Amino acid sequence: VEEARISARALMDFSEGLFNPTLRLGITGLSRAGKTVFITALIHGLTRGGRFPVFEPLATGRIARARLEPQPDDAVPRFDYERHVHTLIDQRAWPNSTVDISELRLVIDYQRQNGAERTLTLDIVDYPGEWLLDLPLLNKSYEQWSRESLALSRGGARAPLASAWHAYLSGLKAEAPADEQAALASARLFTEYLRACRDERFAMSLLPPGRFLMPGSLAGSPALTFAPLDVPEDGTAPEGSLWAMMRRRYRSYKDVVVRPFFRDHFARLDRQVVLVDALAAFNSGPSALFDLEAALAGILDCFRVGRGTFLNALFRPKIDRILFAATKADHLHHSSHDRLEAVLRRAVTRAAARAEDTGATIDVVALAAVRATREAQVTRGRETLPSILGTPMSGEKADGEVFDGNTEVATFPGELPDDPQALFAGENAFRGLAGGQDDGTDFRFLRFRPPPLAQEGENGPALPHIRLDRAMQFLIGDRLQ
Ligand code: GDP
Repeated sequence: VEEARISARALMDFSEGLFNPTLRLGITGLSRAGKTVFITALIHGLTRGGRFPVFEPLATGRIARARLEPQPDDAVPRFDYERHVHTLIDQRAWPNSTVDISELRLVIDYQRQNGAERTLTLDIVDYPGEWLLDLPLLNKSYEQWSRESLALSRGGARAPLASAWHAYLSGLKAEAPADEQAALASARLFTEYLRACRDERFAMSLLPPGRFLMPGSLAGSPALTFAPLDVPEDGTAPEGSLWAMMRRRYRSYKDVVVRPFFRDHFARLDRQVVLVDALAAFNSGPSALFDLEAALAGILDCFRVGRGTFLNALFRPKIDRILFAATKADHLHHSSHDRLEAVLRRAVTRAAARAEDTGATIDVVALAAVRATREAQVTRGRETLPSILGTPMSGEKADGEVFDGNTEVATFPGELPDDPQALFAGENAFRGLAGGQDDGTDFRFLRFRPPPLAQEGENGPALPHIRLDRAMQFLIGDRLQ
């Protein structure tokens, strides 16, 4: 039945595509990577135009116009573009981040290089990257997943973060009668542990279930109210036990949450952007970089065209281009942008070697979807430092000063090493090079407000960016030939 349903929809997608060329572009990335800002800037850039010299169809004037149209999927929330633009431009504040899947349709009228008038429909699908990390669960029993999650939580830096959950778990009997309160308490403590791992170590790669951190519309539902138990991998759950209850919910999680997402959304994407907050990882040192790499490998695994795997029956990804983008490059001076790209390229290459063949063309870029800073030279003693200039958000602190959100400051953001390897090998190579602040505050990671913009004509101002046009050229340039 599932296969038939998939084929029927694939046929519909296909026939619509014949008369009306359509590209489904997925935008993902872990929480706070910059998805909402990226999509808002992308749509703003396409509908309003702007400075995009590397995005050939726009730069040469072949795009006549791009307009929003009602999206095709009625059951998916609409990406709240208008509100996000208003927040960014009129309030100079960052919009609310992605917490669920959303979608928006853009129709682009353009002239082909041979002169013919054409239309391309671009469906943009925004979803939390956390959800991709659930894929391996489809292949795992509840008992297997319990054992793995427990083993992981007992090792190294994670153990202290898991202590409250472990303490509760040691008082639980898996064979005891099912008990809703015990399930609720375990799920809550387990989720708190996952959250602590994410906050402290960016160890997302090994932290499914993804919806525990990004529940979307399912917060509080039974499909999300379960947790690992200390049970043998080959054991059988006694009927009516807590174990049996957890196991059933784990299965529903896979059936009603994970599988439908991959089938109904992921499998229909043509192209994918994966946004990565690499700067945040650098700041935490090499172990966070290795975690990032593992997360990238996990994400890449989702794109493999594995023939004859169990996934084949469920979906066959048709993605032919994947762009990995390091976001927020405006936190660095431009002399470090190529280096940022080199580090991400290295992490992706190593991840790609671990993942199975994805069959897609992969590219890497360092960008800022909305550039919040300008550049300046700052003299410190005899040194001139390549610095950035921006308005720290209200409440941000540095050097004992608390900013009011209206004061522009120049800061030296640190430099990335020439050789990306240094970041993977050295203990905090980035921090070392940056010199750090004497009082331990970290000036480089001041969060800046979106930039002030001058009104320009009736279309309103264009948003400044870094290399967003390169991303656009790779993602849709070839479809607008
Ligand atoms: P999401 O969770 O992936 O949707 O992330 P958002 O798009 O909401 O971005 C999270 C935060 O990162 C924002 O609130 C901004 O503070 C910051 N951010 C995102 N993109 C940029 C950018 O291009 N430049 C700067 N300076 N900050 C950004």
